[in-house]
Amino acid sequence: MSYYVALDVGGSKVLGALFDAKGKIIATKKVKTFAARGTDFVYQQIKLVIDTLLEGRKKVKGIGVIVPGIVLNHDYVEFCPNVPFDHFPLGMLLREEYAMPVALGNDVSLAVYGEWKSYDRPVDHAVGLFVGTGVGGGLILDRKLYTGQGGGGELGHMVLVAHGAGCGCGNEGCLEAYAGKAGLLRRLKAAQTRGRESLLYDYLKSDGSMITSEAFRTCYEAGDELALELIDQASYYLGLAVANFINMLHPELFIFGGGIMESLHPVMLPRIKQVAKNNAMPALGTNLEFSMSRLGDNAGIVGSFYQIYEMVNHA
Ligand SMILES: [Zn+2]
Repeated sequence: MSYYVALDVGGSKVLGALFDAKGKIIATKKVKTFAARGTDFVYQQIKLVIDTLLEGRKKVKGIGVIVPGIVLNHDYVEFCPNVPFDHFPLGMLLREEYAMPVALGNDVSLAVYGEWKSYDRPVDHAVGLFVGTGVGGGLILDRKLYTGQGGGGELGHMVLVAHGAGCGCGNEGCLEAYAGKAGLLRRLKAAQTRGRESLLYDYLKSDGSMITSEAFRTCYEAGDELALELIDQASYYLGLAVANFINMLHPELFIFGGGIMESLHPVMLPRIKQVAKNNAMPALGTNLEFSMSRLGDNAGIVGSFYQIYEMVNHA
C-alpha cells in the first residue's frame, strides 16, 4: 500500500493528514501557523507537520498542499493575503526537501474538488461556493477542476453591483462584499454608526473585529430586523451569482459550504434557489441539484489528496 500526505495551510493553523491510496485518513497532525512570524517560520511549521506524518513510513508517494491564495502552477504560491507567501517557491522547496512530487492548489477550489469526488453520484459539471469570512469557489467542468491558466475560480469576486460595496480585494460590488462575513460585518458596523438598533452588536468581538456565523443565526431566529435584512441580502446576491453560473456554464450541481451557509442554510438555500430561478434563462433552470458540503473542515485536504494522487498516478 502506498501513502500520500495532504496539508491545508490556513491563516491560523496548518492541518495535515496521511492518506492511504484509497483516500482513507490514517493519521493527522495540526499546528499553529504563526503567520505573523514570517515566511521562514511558517515554512518550518509546514515541514514539522510533514515530518511528523512521514515518520517511519517509506512508501509515501507525494505531498499535496493547499493555501488560501492564488497558485498559478505547482511551483509557487503567488499571492496569499493571510499567510506570508508572496511569489514563494513552496512547491519547489518541498519537492527538493522530500524528493517526491508536490502538488499546490487553492484551498477552496480543492475543497470543492474533494466534495465533488465524494458526492453521491458521478456529476459532470459542478460549481462550489463556500461562504465564510470571504466567499471562495471552485469549478468542476467536464469532470475536471477548472482553473484556466492556474488562478481561475475566484468566484466570490464576481462583480454584481456596479460601484457597489467595497470588497477585501480592493474592488467594489463583488459577491463577497455582500455575502461574506467580513462584508456583513462592515455593513453591520455602518448600521451601528447610523444609530440603527440590532441584537447583533451584542455579539461583536470586544474590538469589533469579528462576529460568528452562529451569532447571525441566533439573531435571525430571534427576528432581529437587521439580521433578517443582511442575511436576505446575502442570499439574494448568492442567488444572482448562481443565475449567472447557470447561464454561463449550465452545471448540474451547486455545492455550498462555509460557516455562514452551515449556520443558515435552512433559510438561505430556498431564497438562493428562488432568486436563481427568477434570474436564470428559464430553459436552463431545470434539472439542477443544490447540496450542502458533506466533508466539513476536511474537504480541502481530501481534495488535495486526490490532486496529488492523480498527479502521481497519471489518473
Ligand atoms: Zn472582491
